[in-house]
Amino acid sequence: MPSIFTRIILREIPCHEVYRDSQVIAFLDISPLSLGHVLVVPVEEREFLHELSEESAAAIGRALPRITRAVIAATGAKSYNILQNNGAAAHQAVPHVHFHIIPKYGEGSGAGCGLGVDWKAGQLAPADAKMLVAKIREHIKV
Ligand code: 5GP
Repeated sequence: MPSIFTRIILREIPCHEVYRDSQVIAFLDISPLSLGHVLVVPVEEREFLHELSEESAAAIGRALPRITRAVIAATGAKSYNILQNNGAAAHQAVPHVHFHIIPKYGEGSGAGCGLGVDWKAGQLAPADAKMLVAKIREHIKV
């Protein structure tokens, strides 16, 4: 079953499209957190970011700043969040990779202001840092 975003890419479902090239599409989020909330989606349908091909990842990397520049120019927003959820536990509702561009208006967290973040920071223990650096470096594949 194609994802809802693939069906949008195929124009089976309408959207408010703001950008399209052969590898990337961007359109307005149907339930925006703020004015100008845009979704940037690779044409390649993958559930998780780490599953994207190098080509698709590069295309998203090129398009995301370009579309963001247009969103902030169009809305006048001075701040914004880029959000990319992976997995239901991380609030991913649509299992097709997508980046949210969410303009942030003011300091508040009320409706229409943009993304509110409940960031409960911990402390990095030196032993954890040492272990993580070693393990992550071991798994990096270039
Ligand atoms: P997620 O929680 O997966 O990161 O975000 C999915 C986003 O897709 C939500 O913000 C939701 O409003 C948006 N969305 C879901 N279905 C549609 C749709 O059919 N059209 C548009 N434009 N946005 C959608």
